[in-house]
Amino acid sequence: MSVRRRTLLKVIVLGDSGVGKTSLMNQYVHKKFSQQYKATIGADFVTKELQIDDKLVTLQVWDTAGQERFQSLGVAFYRGADCCVLVYDVNVLRSFDTLDNWHEEFLKQASPSDPKTFPFILLGNKVDIDGGNSRVVSEKKAKDWCASKGSIPYFETSAKEDYNVDAAFLCVAKSALANE
Ligand code: GDP
Ligand code: MG
Repeated sequence: MSVRRRTLLKVIVLGDSGVGKTSLMNQYVHKKFSQQYKATIGADFVTKELQIDDKLVTLQVWDTAGQERFQSLGVAFYRGADCCVLVYDVNVLRSFDTLDNWHEEFLKQASPSDPKTFPFILLGNKVDIDGGNSRVVSEKKAKDWCASKGSIPYFETSAKEDYNVDAAFLCVAKSALANE
């Protein structure tokens, strides 16, 4: 039996309260084989093991436990992050407008060695609502924002309908691995 060391990748998920961060993580992790839930002081994370090419990786995805309202996430939350997932709700303009703040806040708190190449992923969640008729942020607007920050990958998702969730987190894992 060979013992292989898994690569631990830390991913943090940021965005306004209510956009579906916890739901996306739960959809992603609970649907698949390995799940784990840990409560820590001020933050929660779930882990998921997956294989990328011939590498076994453990994705450790950190969630906020309501502190996003006050932006009082501690340094431990940001420390050692390999990728940052930004989430907004396509039906709520404010959640899109605050992306700049979350992006800035991450760079300030995590201070990655190379801010220009640090991997971010943007998720526009809740595309299922009202068959898309209540959305206020277009795909183009979101993609323009991503381009303005230096080619951030963008996924439209529905945690409720499990739309694009796996694809988004696979991109997250690959980006984190490439940055590790
Ligand atoms: P968080 O505060 O960002 O963690 O958001 P939550 O995951 O707690 O979700 C906030 C609310 O939005 C909950 O009532 C969820 O059921 C709902 N929600 C989350 N994702 C979706 C989605 O993709 N579609 C719909 N229709 N509702 C969602
Ligand atoms: Mg939550």
